[in-house]
Amino acid sequence: MAKDLSIVIPCYNEGKNVYILYGRLKKVLLSLKKTYEIIYIDDGSRDDTFAFLEKIRSLDSNVRVVKFRKNFGQTAAFDAGFSLAEGKVIVSMDADLQNDPEDIPLLLGKMRQGFDVVCGWRADRKDPFLKKLTSKLANRVRKSFTKETIHDSGCSLRAYKKECFDGLTLYGEMHRYIPAILTWRGFKVSEVKVHHYPRQFGKTKYGAKRVLKGFLDLIVVKFWMQYSGRPMHLFGGLGFLTSFLGSLIGIYLAIMKFVYHQAIGNRPLLLLAVLLVIIGVQFIVFGILGDILIKTYYESNGKKNYLIEKIL
Ligand code: UDP
Ligand code: MG
Repeated sequence: MAKDLSIVIPCYNEGKNVYILYGRLKKVLLSLKKTYEIIYIDDGSRDDTFAFLEKIRSLDSNVRVVKFRKNFGQTAAFDAGFSLAEGKVIVSMDADLQNDPEDIPLLLGKMRQGFDVVCGWRADRKDPFLKKLTSKLANRVRKSFTKETIHDSGCSLRAYKKECFDGLTLYGEMHRYIPAILTWRGFKVSEVKVHHYPRQFGKTKYGAKRVLKGFLDLIVVKFWMQYSGRPMHLFGGLGFLTSFLGSLIGIYLAIMKFVYHQAIGNRPLLLLAVLLVIIGVQFIVFGILGDILIKTYYESNGKKNYLIEKIL
């Protein structure tokens, strides 16, 4: 039978945290008086996380535990949890006690005001300075690229209506872009301020490397949002621009040669003209290939490039 709530929690080497969190979470869930399930995803932990999860599961039939064969990353863990979840509303959060289960009613309250997604905003974030700074910059860049409206896309504590994930698969480190992707897919996204605590046990799993990875993911997300239905508009546009520039330079050089009888064979400009035209033609060909690939993608998956809310 469908539950009211599914709580999805990725855990990677969070032994001690998992156990403490369960107690706090359970208290909040019982006070809500809704049917619920808690789905833990053990993302290839090498500590006692799974042993703790097994124990929790043996005590509580509302708990489900997914164990990954190895560490596949937080996004994969979310994806596994979301596809398994049966709740009408899915709440995601971190296992490391940095999020507060007491904030869940707040998210649900906001959702009742007519939103499909409610994101936590760690207004008073308790992380090392450098982490807060890079995260702030990343949020800025992300916002300008994706027209996202929320402040904090790095906070895992969020509530989603189940239908948000119909036909959506998450790849790479895409979990930070879920609000942006869902906004683009036409869901109503909002946010509420939530608590945040310093990490007490265990270590953070993310270092400086995530900045570059995050930026590369951003390019992919941007492409999907804007051009996935029409790759030719991006590549064709670029192609026409570069070949046009190349042709202009070519015409200029031809006038120099035939009208003014200057030698052009040793001019770097000639090389540039040829290069631009070739690149331009390649872009246009990329556009055509992209178009073929996109059509194959949608048709082979039986997917549409639009989402229907309801039919009357
Ligand atoms: N996590 C995971 N797989 C990973 C990395 C992280 O399941 O490969 C989980 C981790 O156990 C935690 C959450 O994702 O519950 C957030 O990770 P972390 O606290 O290290 O990130 P930070 O808060 O430092 O950004
Ligand atoms: Mg954390």
